[in-house]
Amino acid sequence: MAVQHQATFTQDTAYQTALAQFDRAARFVEAPDGYLEFLKQPQREMIVHFPVKKDDGRIEMYTGYRVHHNTSLGPTKGGIRYSLDVTLDEVRALAMWMTWKCALVGLPYGGAKGGVVVDPKTLSIHENERLTRRYTSEMISLFSPHGDIPAPDMGTNPQTMAWIMDTYSMMIGHSVPAVVTGKPMNIGGSAGRTEATGYGTIIAMLEALKRMGIHQTDEVRLVIQGFGNVGSYAALRASELGFKVVAVSDVSGGVYKAAGLDIPAIVKFTKKGQLLNEYRDQGVEFVTNTELISLPCDVLIPAAMEGQITEFTAKDVKAYLVVEGANGPTTPEGDDILADKGVTVVPDVLANSGGVIVSYFEWVQGLQSFFWDVDEVYRRMERLMIKAYDNVSVTAEKHKIPLRTAAQVAAIQRVAEATITRGIYP
Ligand code: NAD
Repeated sequence: MAVQHQATFTQDTAYQTALAQFDRAARFVEAPDGYLEFLKQPQREMIVHFPVKKDDGRIEMYTGYRVHHNTSLGPTKGGIRYSLDVTLDEVRALAMWMTWKCALVGLPYGGAKGGVVVDPKTLSIHENERLTRRYTSEMISLFSPHGDIPAPDMGTNPQTMAWIMDTYSMMIGHSVPAVVTGKPMNIGGSAGRTEATGYGTIIAMLEALKRMGIHQTDEVRLVIQGFGNVGSYAALRASELGFKVVAVSDVSGGVYKAAGLDIPAIVKFTKKGQLLNEYRDQGVEFVTNTELISLPCDVLIPAAMEGQITEFTAKDVKAYLVVEGANGPTTPEGDDILADKGVTVVPDVLANSGGVIVSYFEWVQGLQSFFWDVDEVYRRMERLMIKAYDNVSVTAEKHKIPLRTAAQVAAIQRVAEATITRGIYP
């Protein structure tokens, strides 16, 4: 019997989190009646069910999604996730956060997200390519360099983007590099894009520490959950800067060493495809992902997935600073507990915005066929992130609200104003 990879409808907490955050922020946004209701809803949603031929000739069915949350500021931008946990509600939440993130850092984009219900680790490279190309062809009416521009997210990578770009180009009849970002550099990718989200997370952390008057890097201990694209580059950058990364984790669990881990060695180990529960080194202890969140540290960087700091886990957080590399890692209940404990949270839409900022630079460079060097890319990325951080701080001060709500107030206000200027069609 053919294996089914189709999601059943679940009451996903990620979307509940996104809606609850919106309600908290909306009270401070100035917009005429009706506009906020419009901004709260996803604008369009596409669900596709499609077959993929496996290497042994069997045919399996898969379900894919693409949600456009809002297009007031421009074409939609957002990653594509391959995971068995993908649901329509999760994609809705992630698309909504993309709208706020792009608006907050001043990009001319609306928010989107996509996903396929699949564990990519179970696919051969050829099966992954066929699945990606078929998903792209099913979504062909949505994707375009001026309509909807995908990027990598959990379970996808630059190679996935190359297959999407090639499939789209074959259907259109000429090469269209700007239809995706996060591409390999040899087909129009931007210098610095792969590392951008992780490095940007560290820029956000440095800014938060600076504002707390903390400048001595070797006294600051970091715990990082998730050791994929975001987590591994955040860990590398932090260790390069002299911070002590005491724990990192992946889906198998984590490794902890109070004196600080050898991050380049761990990166080398995981690059071979091994999981962290197989990592051995002197003085290194194994911890579960739940234990990881409660480890003694100064900064906690959740960089894996949604719903990690919750009403159940937030009380055990020892860090005084949480910098969200992942999207939606903290629930509203988790936020309240952290606020009561005096923990500062630099929210996802600000902390992990380096990725979409450099994706925007990649798009701009591709459209102009004029490419910048990596220093130029990071200089511009840092400038946009710090500008957004300033805006969030001022908004937080003005309304006496946490950074997350402030970030969403600033972002929703920008989208609301664009919507008002454009008017409601017809
Ligand atoms: P990835 O697939 O490269 O890595 C994900 C990591 O999380 C892996 O180490 C995986 O083993 C681990 N993981 C998976 N499930 C876990 C679990 N239950 N507990 C602990 N660890 C788990 O993905 P990524 O691109 O690094 O994305 C991570 C997060 O960052 C996601 O929330 C994503 O939406 C967000 N994000 C990514 C980018 C980007 O540019 N890649 C940009 C902004 C935000």
